[in-house]
Amino acid sequence: MLEPRNYLFDLPDNGRPEPLSIPEELYPGVRDHWGKSTTSRKFDPLTGIRGVVIHATAGGSSSGAMSVMKAHKASWHWLVPDENEIQHGKLVWACAPETRAAWHVQNSKFHPDVNNGKNLINHWTVGIEIVNTQKKTPVDGFSEWQVDVTAQIVRYCWAKYPNLKHVFSHALVDPQRRTDPGKNFPWEEFKEKILNGKMEKSKSLVASALPMSELTANPDIALCCMSGN
Ligand SMILES: [Zn+2]
Repeated sequence: MLEPRNYLFDLPDNGRPEPLSIPEELYPGVRDHWGKSTTSRKFDPLTGIRGVVIHATAGGSSSGAMSVMKAHKASWHWLVPDENEIQHGKLVWACAPETRAAWHVQNSKFHPDVNNGKNLINHWTVGIEIVNTQKKTPVDGFSEWQVDVTAQIVRYCWAKYPNLKHVFSHALVDPQRRTDPGKNFPWEEFKEKILNGKMEKSKSLVASALPMSELTANPDIALCCMSGN
């Protein structure tokens, strides 16, 4: 059986997806807490992103997780609702700006196989929390949508961040204290979904736009946002 402390794979150099979107909405009121629950990244917020950390809350509700963020004890970039929440199947909560470091891994933690053993993991990763009790009797499984949308977030990041490489569990880098996302999380299936991108829907509206590569740079069109020099 797969052990959460070994959940790790690297994204290949080729196979980077086309840009895609994720069904996200800001958690209501969360912006008021960014100043006290996130930190300025120590590395470039675009080229410095090297990993995605997968967590499970060990609680049963999105609001329970957000009450921890309100106490400024922890934070994450996305929160994936549980099966019994009305947002399940529809949207994930965006909880922290990607440009800022969220607080989902202790600063002292590291693993030799990720980013050359560098610590300060929050500063070079984004963090995804999946709402799941992690109960074993009865087993609280992850829904297919939770796995799909989490994979979709990872693919969104893979398309966006040029140096993104490692996808790993919280348990990998904090094995003494943490087991999340737990044995019930289907890591191999999750990995397949990321590498094969089977969950993606057609992007007809995006596909119909004229890509930047086909545009001629034009400095002579006056737009409202240009500075008047
Ligand atoms: Zn965690």
